[in-house]
Amino acid sequence: MEKQGERCGKLVLVPCPFQGHINPMLQLAAILKSKGFSITIAHTQFNSPNPSNHHDFTFLPIPDGISDRDAATMDFMALITALNANSEVPLRERLSPMMKQEEQNDRIACIIYDAIMYKTEAVANHLKIPSIVLETGSAATLLTYAAVPRLQADGYIPLQDSMSQDLVPLLHPFRFKDLPIFNFPNLEALLQLLATTSNIKTSSAIILNTLDCLEHPSLAPLQKHYQVPIFSMGPFHKIAPPSSSSLLKEDTNCISWLDKQSPNSVIYVSIGSVASIDERELVETAWGLANSGQPFLWVVRPGSIRGLEWLALLPESFKETVEERGCIVEWAPQKEVLAHGAVGGFWSHCGWNSTLESTCEGVPMVCRPCFGDQRMNARCLSHVWRVGLELENELQRGEIERTIRRLMVGKEGEEMRRSAIDLKLKVELSIEKVNTRIDWKETPEAHVFKADL
Ligand code: UDP
Repeated sequence: MEKQGERCGKLVLVPCPFQGHINPMLQLAAILKSKGFSITIAHTQFNSPNPSNHHDFTFLPIPDGISDRDAATMDFMALITALNANSEVPLRERLSPMMKQEEQNDRIACIIYDAIMYKTEAVANHLKIPSIVLETGSAATLLTYAAVPRLQADGYIPLQDSMSQDLVPLLHPFRFKDLPIFNFPNLEALLQLLATTSNIKTSSAIILNTLDCLEHPSLAPLQKHYQVPIFSMGPFHKIAPPSSSSLLKEDTNCISWLDKQSPNSVIYVSIGSVASIDERELVETAWGLANSGQPFLWVVRPGSIRGLEWLALLPESFKETVEERGCIVEWAPQKEVLAHGAVGGFWSHCGWNSTLESTCEGVPMVCRPCFGDQRMNARCLSHVWRVGLELENELQRGEIERTIRRLMVGKEGEEMRRSAIDLKLKVELSIEKVNTRIDWKETPEAHVFKADL
């Protein structure tokens, strides 16, 4: 095995410029750095990571021609298409001189790219550099994407409302309504994107931020489906040295607020970096939290309430509750929050990073997925690992209050907390194994890793 700190070769990593994708890519970069690889992050200028948080890496900005203003008016699919189309040539032009270096070690040994930055595969091929795909979601999600052609051939797509509760053939325990393609407004474009990103033609491996102990039932068929090795190396944030790749400033005052709360008493509420709610949901959430009687730490991200400037709408009486037993921030140091002893529950939109972060800390959840893979993650949390309660209906303060109580003080919640701790212990055991399982090769020409799967 390669000794730590020894120089193994130069890797270029290409993240997709959204928080939930930047985090795992930079964590993976930190893991690889600690194994002796030299790291270059080739990133779009849109949502650029902050180089001053990562002194060990070289940052290579790639012009993408997209301003924050453009991005605000584009839907997700249009943005992804534009980012790929606009960055392909500049990426190739910037990497090309690195391949002409005289020293072998100064040339790029391998490119690792986020599956959504799919044009990188063509760049790697053009420059004759081996490439590896990083999938930042769960194995179950990737397996579902791989199953889309079968579901299409069997006539299930477009999915009908009438079968929303039915289990998807060969994808149990997921129901049709859990699939990322369910009720997706621009289905044609999504199917096209999925076809492109799941069609891994020339990349030599796939890395997943997951663990066998969480996703064994999906990993085996996934390995069968793809002709290339699949490495489940997660949870990255626990294996990498601690660091922050937040695009927004983390408000650390909430940690001193947490320090004053009793153990396991606080419900932490966050819907991640992209999801949003409307005014009615904001008000119902506020009163549900207030009426639950539990202390709460609530992240209200600027822009996360459709049509509203942050919290302008909340009445004075709610603000009094906040002063009594609440803390509201625009962005939290989430990993630290979840690891804090005062946090006893996490109301989450169930993005995959949040799912892993909560699972690693043994925090049971209220699952309120919004879109994409979040519904699948919520289904696993509530029905497979049994560490979460799903909040499925239209948001109403009464149901929110009851669900928070069930989780935080009810018998059911107690059981769920025990399951969450059991799962955390399993994850910890699995993390110990990751380092011994992966053989860090000296030259990552063919694959960066050779793992005993
Ligand atoms: N996050 C954070 N502070 C917050 C809310 C979220 O640092 O106040 C981080 C969180 O730890 C996670 C990421 O943002 O790593 C969100 O990723 P996830 O996959 O959970 O959801 P997404 O934002 O992609 O929907």
